[in-house]
Amino acid sequence: MLSAAESADGFGGFGLHPALLQAVTDSKYCHPSPVQAQAIPLLLQGRDLIAQAQTGTGKTAAFALPCLHNLEADQHLPQVLVLTPTRELALQVAKSFERYGAHMPRLRVLPIYGGSGFRPQIQGLRRGAQIVVGTPGRVMDHMRQGTLNLSGLRSLVLDEADEMLRMGFIDDVTWILERTAQERQLVLFSATMPPEVRQLSGRFLHDPAEVTIATSKADTQRIHQWLLMVHASQKRQALIQVLEAEASEATMIFVRTKQATVEVAAELSSHAYRCAALSGDVIQSQREQVIERLRSGQLDVVVATDVAARGIDVERITLVVNYDPPLDAEAYIHRIGRTGRAGRQGQALLLATPRERRQVQAIERVTGQRLEVMELPDTAMVNDRRRQRFKERILSALDGADVPLFAQLVKELSAENNLPAEHIAAALAQLMQGTQPFELSHQDHLPRPSSRRQSRPVAANMERYRIEVGWKHKVKPGNIVGALANQAGIKGQSIGRIHIFDEHSTVDLPRNMPDDLFATLRNLRVVSQPLRIRKLEGSAV
Ligand code: AMP
Repeated sequence: MLSAAESADGFGGFGLHPALLQAVTDSKYCHPSPVQAQAIPLLLQGRDLIAQAQTGTGKTAAFALPCLHNLEADQHLPQVLVLTPTRELALQVAKSFERYGAHMPRLRVLPIYGGSGFRPQIQGLRRGAQIVVGTPGRVMDHMRQGTLNLSGLRSLVLDEADEMLRMGFIDDVTWILERTAQERQLVLFSATMPPEVRQLSGRFLHDPAEVTIATSKADTQRIHQWLLMVHASQKRQALIQVLEAEASEATMIFVRTKQATVEVAAELSSHAYRCAALSGDVIQSQREQVIERLRSGQLDVVVATDVAARGIDVERITLVVNYDPPLDAEAYIHRIGRTGRAGRQGQALLLATPRERRQVQAIERVTGQRLEVMELPDTAMVNDRRRQRFKERILSALDGADVPLFAQLVKELSAENNLPAEHIAAALAQLMQGTQPFELSHQDHLPRPSSRRQSRPVAANMERYRIEVGWKHKVKPGNIVGALANQAGIKGQSIGRIHIFDEHSTVDLPRNMPDDLFATLRNLRVVSQPLRIRKLEGSAV
């Protein structure tokens, strides 16, 4: 175990209270993140601040630590007010304050948000909450009815300001800002800086310091972003194939409508995913339960609308699927920010139909990077995963199974009918499987929609060739590599990407292939099929 001084080394230079440094050590943070390194000194100086940083950058600690440092322990009035767009975020931010303030005696943090009773909130305020984290509507309600006294306010933080404005809270936020004393420190954190956020900042912040943490940098480091082009009618099947092939710990799927959350969740449940739908229709207590179940591993997939998913911070989420494209590029940034939490790696997939190319381009412009095109996972990969999941399901069912009873029944059945136990197990598996085929067949595998993009770019110094063997001929990449290496003498390491399609495949080979080698290849056969190799036009880089 590192001592506070050692592990909080990078934090030591800020001059933060030792109780806070201890909490940083408890949290196992070794170095301040970029937003913390920049924002903490400015906030400790008492400056107003406008910071562009998205979730996952450590922004909460960037404002929570200085706010806690400046707290008057003996003053039992709200000294810090944080406004958040959602209840989930309010709860999370309140938890973070509690964590960072764990070694500060008598610290009182209170989340206040709509959809939950007034009475406990009023009691919490009366008991002397020093840090209040709330959604704008409920904060206004308390201010109006005189239960939230802001006369001792030192700092006011607008967290995820762009989200707050996008959700229509501009009037509420303005109302609150107009009714707080001019001397309080005002801090604005936002993932993006649309004009409305700039206007708000121009009107209320005094000579603010500015901190910008490039979004794309944070993303590229931790979130691998993919694009899969599909036709609208094939989306569900594509989603299932992707989920089956990707070994994701927990997955968040974004859809456009409430109805779609229910439909997609039902479809996934029918494929044995532990899945739940989350939309504005789901009542608050249930929403919290769903998030808790996702966090604890009782659920693997949550299908949500943008509004319902805001502020979710679950480290297990390793894949975000944009099943329907987001309304704009900024929403995309918020969605993919649900993965890659706490410095972990994440993957984000955007399913887009050929008509949605423009939206894809807009996203690429804003994030400043091109999405990597994903091939639909091939049939063999999907089936491998199905087998694996089948075994996992059975092993996990063993945990809660009444083994003596069922083992006895199987024994009886076996003896009475002279049946091997495997056959009985097979019949049970078939019952469990129902009428759905267990394996994905090549016919079910979705063809790729035509796309102006190459499936994956041809590497430098390579050219792409077409060969006339495909799934239909039961070819595997190993057959192609084997034939090229053994029969034509091409070294394994100079054989590039291979893509197998229904009727044909492509293979990338070094540029400027000698004529005699090409002639040899023309005559090759793989899985008894003549390759009839030919160069694809425009394939060279
Ligand atoms: P946030 O951007 O505030 O949502 O924080 C994202 C995640 O990063 C949270 O799980 C924090 O606990 C974690 N975190 C914050 N600061 C640091 C740090 N300096 N080092 C490592 N992890 C951190």
